[in-house]
Amino acid sequence: MITNTTATTTSPHKPLSAHFTQGLLAHVIRYQRCRACTHAQTLARYACQRCGAEQLVWHDASGLATVRAKTVVSRAPSDDFRALAPYTLVIVELDEGPRLMGHADADVQIGQRVNAGFFEHQGRVLLRFEPIS
Ligand SMILES: [Zn+2]
Repeated sequence: MITNTTATTTSPHKPLSAHFTQGLLAHVIRYQRCRACTHAQTLARYACQRCGAEQLVWHDASGLATVRAKTVVSRAPSDDFRALAPYTLVIVELDEGPRLMGHADADVQIGQRVNAGFFEHQGRVLLRFEPIS
């Protein structure tokens, strides 16, 4: 027999990444930090990547970061991104520790200090890292 109880429980099918994507909508980078070993990670997981503990707490990052890698995408992976190509993607290391990917100006340099910015594209909020002058 089907009852209404599932409708009132805390959304069990909410994506694990919802905290992160809702943060982007609010122009905040969120990351998880492990209570057991203090390891920080940006890709939402059920357990710590380093020690496997499941006590993960969400935090807001400052947005300050250092560029660790850079690549130019000249052929967009999907129609959504064709209008942006060619574009530059960077992997940055947040001051809080975790790494993540975002857009950046073509002349950004590896090792450069950057601050997170946000822009909307095709209904999604994406990251763009701007150099700190
Ligand atoms: Zn841990």
